[in-house]
Amino acid sequence: MFALWLAGFGLATSRAWAVIQFDNQYYSPRNRERSVRKATSLIILHTTEAPSRSALRKLSDLGECHYCIDEGGRVYRIVDHRREAYHAGRSMWNGRANVDEFSVGIEMCGYHNKPLSAAQYRSLADLIGELKHIYKIPDHNVIAHAHVAYGAPNKWHKRSHRGRKRCGMMFALPSVRSRLNLKSRPASDPDVKARRLVVGDAYLAQVLYGRGPAAVAAGPVAIARTDDNVIAKGRSAWDVARDAYNDKTTLYTFPDGSKKFGNQIADFKQLPVGTRITVRADVRENRLETYQVIGVNGKAQDIAGDEVRRFTTLYVRPDGKYVRGSQLSPEEVLKLPYGTKVLVGYSVGGPIAPNRLATAICGNRWRSADTFFLIEGVLVPGNKVDDAKIPVGTMVFFKS
Ligand SMILES: [Zn+2]
Repeated sequence: MFALWLAGFGLATSRAWAVIQFDNQYYSPRNRERSVRKATSLIILHTTEAPSRSALRKLSDLGECHYCIDEGGRVYRIVDHRREAYHAGRSMWNGRANVDEFSVGIEMCGYHNKPLSAAQYRSLADLIGELKHIYKIPDHNVIAHAHVAYGAPNKWHKRSHRGRKRCGMMFALPSVRSRLNLKSRPASDPDVKARRLVVGDAYLAQVLYGRGPAAVAAGPVAIARTDDNVIAKGRSAWDVARDAYNDKTTLYTFPDGSKKFGNQIADFKQLPVGTRITVRADVRENRLETYQVIGVNGKAQDIAGDEVRRFTTLYVRPDGKYVRGSQLSPEEVLKLPYGTKVLVGYSVGGPIAPNRLATAICGNRWRSADTFFLIEGVLVPGNKVDDAKIPVGTMVFFKS
């Protein structure tokens, strides 16, 4: 009798959690510091690209998703669904950047090119159903991280581009969506259509939006075949490692057996066919982009591509002074000194004042590792800054 009454009460308040058993053992210690979202219009699906135990620990430590579903279908609560989780990184959808601010993120333990377990599909379908109900989200707004992630220019792409990640891309396939009771999907990429971004990964675009037989037949097997870790004709270091290509933890093993890390390679376009690339699983997903450095990561042009002279490209010189790309002539861009730090796609806020704190400038992103405070000429990331010691006059650089 009592149990019945409880069930009835649950239905009346929130139909939601009646059907799902949550496991709270990885509930994130970051919950306290995350603010409540003002809006929720998307559900973003991810694949951890790592086995469940290490993935769960990292997701919890960093507060990188709201829910994670392991191979057995167990649903872990990581961040309260009303608060902000840092799951999407550099992202944009329909002209709006920082997708974390208006989405719920669900991580599936598994890989973007491998099938999920039947138990995972069942749990995910239930969880999506509940969240759609709570937030009134239509089916075409349940999308993959691959839909919304975008990259700053790099050696392969001269402009900001879609295709920074293939994370969760199989959630665009009609065969997968039907198992999740999703009846529609986005017909095209709104940011590519509006020319805010270019297509950086034609294969991904085909998986996400293709209508022909290739897309329908692109089951996980077809996806896996095209997705190897070895450099080949038509498969570059970027195709394999994405934005971790020049990372010091990304290992390149050449055909002769010799090895180098990403930060030790000068010319990524001359890598021999057969070079194997190993990206560390624990840094691969959700890694925050940081600034790149002239001389270390290449010339300004290599780092910022066609965006070298944009208003949203910032250069912080070794002397600690910053300048916008739009303030520089082409000659001045070439003369930026070795050691200049480059931030692409950033807004400038500030200066910090007693009545204008960091939260007033960029909300709760002030604590993010990809927000920077220019303190005495040094770029201090938001997750390392001591909020009691930010000097008056400090400028804040945050992703726009
Ligand atoms: Zn992801």
